[in-house]
Amino acid sequence: MIALEYGCDLNGNLIHISNARKGLKCGLYCPACKKQLIAKKGDLMQHHFAHYKAAECKYAFETSIHLLAKEIIAEDGEIFTPELALLPDHWNMYNYILLKSQYFRIGNIIVEPHLGNIRPDLIVYIDSHPLLIEVCVTHKVDADKLKKIKEHNLSAIEINLSDVGHGMSKEILKEKIKEESRIKWLYNKKRNYYYEKLCSYSITIGDRLNAKIPGFPNIVRRYCPITGRKASFLMNCHGCNYCVASINDPHEEFIWCSQPHKIKNMTDLKNAIKRGLRAIDK
Ligand code: SF4
Ligand SMILES: [Zn+2]
Repeated sequence: MIALEYGCDLNGNLIHISNARKGLKCGLYCPACKKQLIAKKGDLMQHHFAHYKAAECKYAFETSIHLLAKEIIAEDGEIFTPELALLPDHWNMYNYILLKSQYFRIGNIIVEPHLGNIRPDLIVYIDSHPLLIEVCVTHKVDADKLKKIKEHNLSAIEINLSDVGHGMSKEILKEKIKEESRIKWLYNKKRNYYYEKLCSYSITIGDRLNAKIPGFPNIVRRYCPITGRKASFLMNCHGCNYCVASINDPHEEFIWCSQPHKIKNMTDLKNAIKRGLRAIDK
């Protein structure tokens, strides 16, 4: 268990051990369980807080980092979000960039709020739209939580701070929170909307029954709209601008071909939606 360096005062403010009085005079409480803390500032060990007459609670350090992250983001008044592609890991990914990496001004920010059956680490509001922030210190978001986030259709990012430990200053954490490589989209409701639209404007060719290699269906049931011949994924569709298949998506064992509506990038897709194009009957 990582030693606790931050306690909370009665107003919920985070106080670093270096600014706390020794022993019970610190008058501080655990950020997670709210029990009384004792500041251990001896000569032998690194200075830290311990629970007074109570067992150390396992969420104390993690919650203190959540609170610190909240403090930093609230002070900055903005949050960095990474680039988002509609078809990540796809050869045509750069034609389908939905959001560039950017800073968003934020409004309200709440720590560990209850949102129905989920409890994100933080939630910030961007133009009154909620963005969930998961701060990964010891636990990554598990499949169950991700499923709930998707069911609620709430956009969420994860900031990887799994390498933080004792001796982490606020200044260092501030830098880490902005490193693009640490931040990833867990779910984005805009992406979900456009992805559903793109699939609805596409025909499916090849299916689960025909997939000889998982994720790479090879035999088709329909004909390629360009050549009029049966298409092979590996010989024809792979590399084609109209192929929407993406191995990271639930439709992974299908090929989705967007040629009938001639959609091969984000602009085509947005125009199709604007023109009110009807979904293709499958
Ligand atoms: S994705 Fe390209 S090659 Fe494959 S069926 Fe569609 S148009 Fe033909
Ligand atoms: Zn505690």
